[in-house]
Amino acid sequence: MKNLLSLLPALALLGIGPTQAAAVAPADEAGEYQAARERLVDFIHDYPRAIGERPDPRILAALRQVPRHLFVPEAARAEAYQDYPLPIGKDQTISQPSLVALMTHLLRPKPGDVILEVGTGSGYQAAILSPLVGKVYSIEIVEALARQATRRLDELGYGNVQVRHGDGYLGWPEHAPFDGIIVTAGAPHVPKPLLDQLKRGGHMVIPVGSTLANQELKVITKDQRGRLSERTIIGVRFVPLTRQVRG
Ligand code: SAH
Repeated sequence: MKNLLSLLPALALLGIGPTQAAAVAPADEAGEYQAARERLVDFIHDYPRAIGERPDPRILAALRQVPRHLFVPEAARAEAYQDYPLPIGKDQTISQPSLVALMTHLLRPKPGDVILEVGTGSGYQAAILSPLVGKVYSIEIVEALARQATRRLDELGYGNVQVRHGDGYLGWPEHAPFDGIIVTAGAPHVPKPLLDQLKRGGHMVIPVGSTLANQELKVITKDQRGRLSERTIIGVRFVPLTRQVRG
């Protein structure tokens, strides 16, 4: 099983170390963050190498645009453009940028698509999808995070993203079916309601595994006749998909 981390030694050999995306002090100007962001995107631009594919220029452009430092707590801003996950409060994390890029790629987003995200968290993944598709519906089970992400996405002008507080296991039937579904929490199994809400020809990207140690990122595809197929991509570690709606 391939892991994205296995790319790191190869990159280090090329002299591209994680330290290259230099840390930025919180007080620095937006331009500093932009420069750090450019360095990060240069560092992770080969994100689909693990699956033997070329990067999607639209996804690289989205990564260059979205200000990740505004999606993490202020104390973590200096680290916003490093390629690792960061805590966002309430025991949750914002995913590693190269993994966000790979998952976005596997979703095969097209202009006009209607996408469901389960696990809004900080709203960063939804913001990355925003310029790539027509509409993003995102569900977050922790109310405080849902509220914070809603405000953040509004303020930053991601007008085609709608966030709702609730249990994403059940999907969002009112807006189904979806061209693509992306789950950003580790599920013990693929939720049946999400399979039902996936359009024919669509893909679902989902980490599956009952423990942190055995999670695998999977892509479930529904073909034009409604038949499902599954592909395992890499081993991953996501916070668990829970069923308990929290404040
Ligand atoms: N996509 C997020 C990272 C998500 S971390 C980002 O870009 O920041 C996973 C998130 O899934 C957490 O915020 C967690 O609270 C949420 N979550 C867990 N179980 C859930 C469920 N059943 N429905 C909706 N959200 C859920």
